[in-house]
Amino acid sequence: MPVAHIGIDDTDSNELGMCTTYIGAVLDERLRALGFASAGEPRLVRLNPANPTKTRGNGAVHLRYHVRGREELPMILKEAEDVVARLAALGDPKADPGIVAIQSDGRPPEALSGFYWSALRGIVSIGQALDLIVRLGGVASWFKEGRGVIGALAAIGAPEEETRMYELLAYRPPIPLKGPRAVDEESVRLADLETWPLTYDNYDWYYMEALVAPHGPDPVLLGIRGPDRSSLFRAYDLIRVEDRVERVALYRTNHGSGSHVVDVGGVRDLRPYTTVRLEGRVSARPWVGPGSHAFFELEDAYGDRIRVAAYEPTKHFRRIVLSLEPGDRVRVVGSYRPRPPEPPTINLESMEVLDLVSVYRRAAPTCPRCGHRMESAGLGKGYRCPACGYADAGLEPTRVRVPRRLVRGQFTPPPRAHRHLTRPPEAYLWERRPACGVED
Ligand code: ATP
Repeated sequence: MPVAHIGIDDTDSNELGMCTTYIGAVLDERLRALGFASAGEPRLVRLNPANPTKTRGNGAVHLRYHVRGREELPMILKEAEDVVARLAALGDPKADPGIVAIQSDGRPPEALSGFYWSALRGIVSIGQALDLIVRLGGVASWFKEGRGVIGALAAIGAPEEETRMYELLAYRPPIPLKGPRAVDEESVRLADLETWPLTYDNYDWYYMEALVAPHGPDPVLLGIRGPDRSSLFRAYDLIRVEDRVERVALYRTNHGSGSHVVDVGGVRDLRPYTTVRLEGRVSARPWVGPGSHAFFELEDAYGDRIRVAAYEPTKHFRRIVLSLEPGDRVRVVGSYRPRPPEPPTINLESMEVLDLVSVYRRAAPTCPRCGHRMESAGLGKGYRCPACGYADAGLEPTRVRVPRRLVRGQFTPPPRAHRHLTRPPEAYLWERRPACGVED
């Protein structure tokens, strides 16, 4: 049976509120009330996190319904336009809502997956999106500049196996109020203890901070994510929310997929606004810059160098960066977003320490007579033993190996600084659990 796919993006504002997932939830309710049967769970698709035009998490929404034929697309599009016109933060000059409707025989057209990968890993234009929509016989509608058609189309194109995670979202009525949500922190801890790792990033145990609730003016009260639907609902049951919950929605998402990362062979292969994985050696001692950000310099196999940063919000992750020594071999994952006049910098998302150099310091020799550590007898006068009094003007300092505070392995910032798409440390536990796979 034919399926109508609807993508929506760019409806929200950091100042005026709203959230594209809320609009998706309202539209889904409306279309189902009109008799359209769902052809799959709604999807929340995150796109390029290094995209300079994103507001927050660069998320777009994909909904799908069984239809009799193409003649139903305009009706669905009209419903979507109504909901977006009523709810989107159109007063924000940066909000450029776009809606795309495309019909297929079931799964989204194959031709669209390439567009998803381009929008996830690079930058695409509105023109490219519109060309593809026309080629696929779809329809699009937009407000203002309509940049949202890019994300709307890319969300439809995400291959099914890309969206293996779930996010359960609870919403308050969409009144743009900033500030904390009345979500009981202790109940979040309890929910995390009971449902982790099948839910994750609910609570940052390093910094004792609940992460489920945002702080902006959007209608989201809380979001719970993970690979297992029933664990999400279990966590939601355990979390006490004092605010009025207007609705709850469940989205499939590409959170935690790590699919946004592109492997590059060297610094010369970096393209602006991408997230890369790059291997190299630490070529300068790490340092702390203004704003308490931590930096080091990486040299690739060709001898080209680039600055790598662990910014202040990554908290103790900076200490790992600062424990690196020149010569250590690392594989970094991070976004490359040129911001002149700042030097080109990779903003770390995670780091693997592959090899550690041995570090030595100069020390006074031990006494050849009694074995005690000697001390300097003065410039050019050799060493003297404070225990037995033996002195020798010809003795040289020795090299002592300094224990490294760092070990080899994979390091990620604390949960409070995780990106939506970052592969979290829990992922290796999910992989051992076949039930997390995609159902068809
Ligand atoms: P959310 O708040 O839902 O998490 P967001 O608010 O951060 O997401 P949007 O407001 O949706 O982001 O704005 C992102 C804009 O960038 C949208 O117009 C989208 O179409 C566009 N966009 C997304 N990915 C790309 C890309 N790879 N290249 C060019 N434009 C993109």
